[in-house]
Amino acid sequence: MKTTKIEGNICPYCGLRNDGASSYKREDEEYTPSENDFSICFYCCEVSVFNKNLKLEKVDNFVVPNEVLEQQKEFKRFKSMYNRKK
Ligand SMILES: [Zn+2]
Repeated sequence: MKTTKIEGNICPYCGLRNDGASSYKREDEEYTPSENDFSICFYCCEVSVFNKNLKLEKVDNFVVPNEVLEQQKEFKRFKSMYNRKK
């Protein structure tokens, strides 16, 4: 999975820095997020959304699509496996 550096983003939920983005849809391509793309925090697994300045915001005013929620579930599962190995 390729990761694109996006400087200066902070997760609106946990406050940790999220400065890399990769797409689960196009794993082999460079990915640059655009407005209204959803993001899953690497640290707390919460879903946020890119605004027009490509800053992450809470999704309070959005309906998060099921496929994003599915990815969030996968992510949480992956994280719990990762945490157990440490
Ligand atoms: Zn977070």
